Amino acid sequence: MRAEQPHYETFEAAELYCPRCKQARPVRKHLLLILPTGNKYDYRCAVCATSVGSKLDSDTRDFSLLLPGT
Ligand SMILES: [Zn+2]
Repeated sequence: MRAEQPHYETFEAAELYCPRCKQARPVRKHLLLILPTGNKYDYRCAVCATSVGSKLDSDTRDFSLLLPGT
């Protein structure tokens, strides 16, 4: 089960435990911030939208895309 994704995407957990649903739920990943040190993502329950976790990605390629090429 693989889907075509942009090369900068990394594998993410499909489900996380949701404290509101009291069970594992599919999560949606939201990009919160793009920082020089990496991107911060928020994971939210796909059912009730409760935040179930966050991740700081050390990949800075997205940030560099925002800078002038010189
Ligand atoms: Zn939930």
